Amino acid sequence: MKITIMTLFPEMIEQCISHSIMGRAIQNGIVNIEAIDIRKYSGNKHNQVDDYPYGGGAGMLIRAQPVKDCYNAIEKSHNTRVIYMTPAGKVWNQKLAEEFSNEKEIIILCGHYEGIDQRVIDDIVTDEISIGDYVLTGGEIAAITITDSIIRLIDGVLGKKESFEMESFSDNLLEHNHYTRPRVFEGREVPEVLLEGNHKKIEQYRREQSLRNTAIKRPDLLEKANLSICEKEYVKNFLE
Ligand code: SAM
Repeated sequence: MKITIMTLFPEMIEQCISHSIMGRAIQNGIVNIEAIDIRKYSGNKHNQVDDYPYGGGAGMLIRAQPVKDCYNAIEKSHNTRVIYMTPAGKVWNQKLAEEFSNEKEIIILCGHYEGIDQRVIDDIVTDEISIGDYVLTGGEIAAITITDSIIRLIDGVLGKKESFEMESFSDNLLEHNHYTRPRVFEGREVPEVLLEGNHKKIEQYRREQSLRNTAIKRPDLLEKANLSICEKEYVKNFLE
């Protein structure tokens, strides 16, 4: 998969993608992530990409032309999806991460200042995505957030040890709790069932934990979760 990120701060992207699972996926050739500096396409000797908004108001806007020239310089196919990171977009979730992980290539456009001239957004953007109902100073952290969540779903990126199948949101449920050594930490013991080696019981225990965690922390998810009649009864114990 190829992800091209259009940004005014390519170093921010490069710093983040070079570590841990993302860094390994790049090294292993499973993904190719490139950050392209919109400023290179400013078209002026001061590398200025922003200008005042028509109609007045606070803040500056990224001009349409550098964004369009930057986009034109990217090698892509005719149906490559172009995501604009914006608080006005669809709020990102695991389902969208799964959808985008099936794409061969995507382009992500990061805004800055007050945003980007609408005309180039209308021209090149296929998807508007937000990472939540708050405003960041730029799209880079948002772009990294969605990139990370997409990449880890691609075949071969996570090792067996880091499988995502049982993770939160995979079935509209939160994950069960985890424990590692030592067996007793400051008087708190690992649940007995995890020490007995009975895999069926462990699976059942983890499912109950997952249902319990979801009912307590994110009851809104339960509406879409696929629960048996017994499980529906079980979660009622934790709902207010
Ligand atoms: N004036 C814009 C507004 O009120 O919606 C906010 C602009 S924000 C300061 C600058 C850039 O940060 C945006 O163009 C966008 O790319 C990015 N950004 C800010 N908040 C975001 C969010 N919640 N999700 C995704 N991108 C965001």
